[in-house]
Amino acid sequence: MPELPEVETVVADLNKKIKGATITKFWSDFPSAIKGTVLEKFKREMKNKKILLAERVGKNIFLNLSGGKSLHIHLRMTGHLLVKSNPPHPNHLLSKKREQNTKSPSPYQGEGACRADEVSFFDDKVNQYIHHIWYLNKNRTLEFSDLRKFATMRLLETKALEKYLAEKKIGIDAMSTDFTLAKFNALLDAKPKMLIGIFLLDQSIVSGIGNIYRSEILFTAGVLPERKNESLEKVERKKIFLATKKILKLAIKMRGTSDSDYRDSDGAPGHFQEMLKVYRRDKLPCPAKCGGLVLRKKMAQRSVFYCAGCQK
Ligand SMILES: [Zn+2]
Repeated sequence: MPELPEVETVVADLNKKIKGATITKFWSDFPSAIKGTVLEKFKREMKNKKILLAERVGKNIFLNLSGGKSLHIHLRMTGHLLVKSNPPHPNHLLSKKREQNTKSPSPYQGEGACRADEVSFFDDKVNQYIHHIWYLNKNRTLEFSDLRKFATMRLLETKALEKYLAEKKIGIDAMSTDFTLAKFNALLDAKPKMLIGIFLLDQSIVSGIGNIYRSEILFTAGVLPERKNESLEKVERKKIFLATKKILKLAIKMRGTSDSDYRDSDGAPGHFQEMLKVYRRDKLPCPAKCGGLVLRKKMAQRSVFYCAGCQK
């Protein structure tokens, strides 16, 4: 599931590419994803509206539209948003071949010029599950690919956004400047018996961290996921807090983790999977070379990965 860095990558892309665009038409072959209204009304309410700004809270995307409405999109398991244009944006055509051949694999480095042998990332199978399309002016489209079809969309009043976040129990965003060490400590103190591995995943407390980054954060901080919040020393709390900010920031820089379906708005994968230390590395030697193996266990129905030697 896309987590904070993946959603942040998409939101930044949307602001770069389609901020100011006008929605001319909406198409869907899976209207069940639309919540709170019916397809026809949803279409009508978005028609001729301008996309003013894309925003993110946790794993939630909000497209603020002219006329006072915002579109809330949650990508869930396999959803991703693709921006296409005719003629295509140069990044659409960056070569997968070039990615394999260069030392620096990110397609976003370099000049982004087109080449004759270029293949569009949009041709990748993972980008073929288009169930919703927003047609935009200047021959552009915003297309929603979602293999598992768990993603949801809802129109709401922009001015009621704060109330909506409270109703939906969406906690403070992990990369927000309001999420400080003092705030983190206060949140930990409010849930003394909770296990830190579960606390980090709970979107109603801190939003944006999912299964991938929970394991990476706790490994970097040297703290076992089954520790109760009340057992955490002051220095350990600080380590977890700093690891959270550091890892999420680095993952945003790497345009997210594409260990499965996640792709950016060009249909291209992120690169943080190349830097994962413990996530899905169970039975492999600990990357800190302590001599132990990375272990895996279930916590809150999801696998958590850790090293029993390096994490206390
Ligand atoms: Zn270790």
